Amino acid sequence: MSVHGTAEERFQFKEPDLPRALTGILETRKIPNALLFIGNPGIGKRDAALQFARAANCLGERPSRAHACNRCKSCKKMAAGMHPDIIRVEPVKGSIRIALIRELYGAITVKPHEAEFRMVLIEDADAMNPEASNALLKILEEPPERTFFILTAKTTDSLLQTILSRCRQVRFKPASLGSIRQTLVDAHGMDPVTARVAASWSDGSLNKALRLLNLSDYTGGTDWMKRRQWLITETGALIKGGKGSDRTTLLLLAEKIGRDPELLTDSLAVIRTFFRDIAVFGYSPDTIVNIDFSALLQEIIHNQPALAPKALEWIKELHNVEKKIKANAGVRLTLEAFFFKLTPARQMA
Ligand SMILES: [Zn+2]
Repeated sequence: MSVHGTAEERFQFKEPDLPRALTGILETRKIPNALLFIGNPGIGKRDAALQFARAANCLGERPSRAHACNRCKSCKKMAAGMHPDIIRVEPVKGSIRIALIRELYGAITVKPHEAEFRMVLIEDADAMNPEASNALLKILEEPPERTFFILTAKTTDSLLQTILSRCRQVRFKPASLGSIRQTLVDAHGMDPVTARVAASWSDGSLNKALRLLNLSDYTGGTDWMKRRQWLITETGALIKGGKGSDRTTLLLLAEKIGRDPELLTDSLAVIRTFFRDIAVFGYSPDTIVNIDFSALLQEIIHNQPALAPKALEWIKELHNVEKKIKANAGVRLTLEAFFFKLTPARQMA
């Protein structure tokens, strides 16, 4: 597969549809003071908020008020991230502290510069500590003019009841894998095999699938299809034994994965799907995720059938690895110990 250029250059990019609750608000132009978008990370809450703000402020012709023309001055500034009335707050080192909310307060005491509706987007609002939450509550109690707030969170669990009561909640549901696969094929010209692999890993998020395929603006420069291939090839080599399974290779793999802590969770998720495929390949080969690695799976299961049940243990072990790392264990050493267990010398230990 070759991926060059952005999705927009290669295909007419179709924006994901907004949830009906949001299109309804846009149609009536009665925008609540505060909205709370709830749903899993990567499901498209941020994109929906930005799209909502574009539609609310669009100056051009469009099919309805729920759409943005994407050509007018306002749309272009927003798309470029250059609009002065889009204010984004996100966690710093995992939390949103009061200083950040005070800074926000300073920014919204002046009138909006040019937008009809200024948007304050607070991402991962569940990362606010109690002080920050109370400061935000004060702002929400006396909202500045022509300004609406969108908070995003995975769940409502860690948000203050008083904040919840001031927000209209909009839930983002995971899309079906079938529909994501179809969109990748129809709107992005993916081949069906690649589309199925990306959909299987998307957690119900088209954005995540696009990110994996390097078709999104938010890849952070990581080509996930390439990284996925590398991770599976290396893990497969460890398991098979021989040259790819010697101590140097193993140490190098742990070191390379540990080098990018922000990619760690997704990297381990790749390895997990590969283990799952090993576990099911023998009796249900048509349900594997990594269909482009069928030959490798065939080889592993043919030569070492006992690895199918073992792979289920590895999946459990991988959860422990994640827990340990979250509890501040050294990433490289934890991964080394884990990879060592995959090598033939230790497989049946
Ligand atoms: Zn517009």
